[in-house]
Amino acid sequence: MVRNATALLLVLTLAAASPFGQTPIKLPKNSYTPAQDVELGRKAAAEARKQYAVIDDPVIARYLTRLGDRLVAVAPRELNQPVYEYSFTPLNVKAINAFALPGGPMFVNRGMFEAAKEEGEVVGVMAHELSHVLLRHGTANASKARNPWLQLGQLAGIIGGAVVGGTAGGVISQGSQFGLGTILLKYSRDFEKQADLLGAQMMARAGYDPRALARMFETIEKESKGGGSPQWMNSHPNPGNRTAYITKEAGQLASGPPPDTSDFPGAKEAFAKIPGGASSAKRNESAASETPGAIGVPGRPVPAPSSQFRSVGVNGVFQATVPANWTGIESPDSIKFVPPNAFGPLNGETVFTHGVEFGVARSGSRDLREATSAWITAVRQDNPDIRVAGDQRTLPLSQRTAMATPLSNPSPLGGDEWMTVYTTFLADGSLFYYLTLVPAREAPDYDLAFERITRTLRLTDAP
Ligand SMILES: [Zn+2]
Repeated sequence: MVRNATALLLVLTLAAASPFGQTPIKLPKNSYTPAQDVELGRKAAAEARKQYAVIDDPVIARYLTRLGDRLVAVAPRELNQPVYEYSFTPLNVKAINAFALPGGPMFVNRGMFEAAKEEGEVVGVMAHELSHVLLRHGTANASKARNPWLQLGQLAGIIGGAVVGGTAGGVISQGSQFGLGTILLKYSRDFEKQADLLGAQMMARAGYDPRALARMFETIEKESKGGGSPQWMNSHPNPGNRTAYITKEAGQLASGPPPDTSDFPGAKEAFAKIPGGASSAKRNESAASETPGAIGVPGRPVPAPSSQFRSVGVNGVFQATVPANWTGIESPDSIKFVPPNAFGPLNGETVFTHGVEFGVARSGSRDLREATSAWITAVRQDNPDIRVAGDQRTLPLSQRTAMATPLSNPSPLGGDEWMTVYTTFLADGSLFYYLTLVPAREAPDYDLAFERITRTLRLTDAP
């Protein structure tokens, strides 16, 4: 009896370890729930649909969805959360790229489709993207980011775009250093390898040859070296030996019955009939001279603050009004509002010359003066010439005690620039800051605007 039980246990253990000799896949640490993945993905997808031209063609839509459904059907059950909302959307963009957002929305550029020589290659990219969704790599990145803005649970608020609308670079600005895309869609080499392996396993189960995935990546890399598709390579870095380990994995996988791929040529024809195909996001098309993420061209004249103001804010942190001609630039831990030509590359560095910034920083101290000094010390690491340029004073800000500190720094535009940083504590003990920035010689033109922003600023983190 005992012997039989042991033998049975041994068989079960072997079966669990390697049903087909496939590599086990690790689900990374994640502090978000699957339902939060869905919520984030839904908001980011709405932004993506605004930012990119969606192809509205029933043949293409049906085809892409059929490929996606085939993959979802063979996704590992323990990873396929019932709350996920899968969708597969074709974009009229020529760059070879595809991306998937937390919780299921996937976007495939026509360029990816046009570069594919067979259905398996498109399916390979989709399987890789679906793996990022199943392994929850986007929110795993956000969990790792450990910055206070995200810890305040503001990721959804930032993506929402409703509060910060109109960013030039866009929320899903892959390939640029700005925007939320860098958190949700920029994967580590380790995550890439996991997505390749799980993708290969799902392809085999769906009856495709997983080596098509490796071939498609080789095509993408070739195009990238010619300057064709840096976006994909930026968000999906090659872990090294990609072709080798996918080929090895493919050799260990049992294959499902071959799928019907006879619709591939018809879908290709349908794509070819769609006119246009933007080279990148539709909003940036006309701005060829601008760097993605830049607001105008730094060094050119900066127009005066508009007398019209608009409301901005981040749910649960702050609300304020800013001049209507200023654009929001969100980053993981702060939001700037800048006039035209006041943010972007100048002489090889990214400069911010006029405007305001709202942000949250961790604080080790409950003493406002100490916490403010620590913040200034941290800022000085990137800007060593910043100095305190006058007396600090305390003042009420949104019915809390705040401290105003005047600072000065050499302006990248020549002369000095003046800053005032206002600091106060949020209910959770982190430091909220709001700073105003303007070149000294233009300061009088900004007095009224800064005064109005300061007066309308409300902290909304506690009742
Ligand atoms: Zn990837």
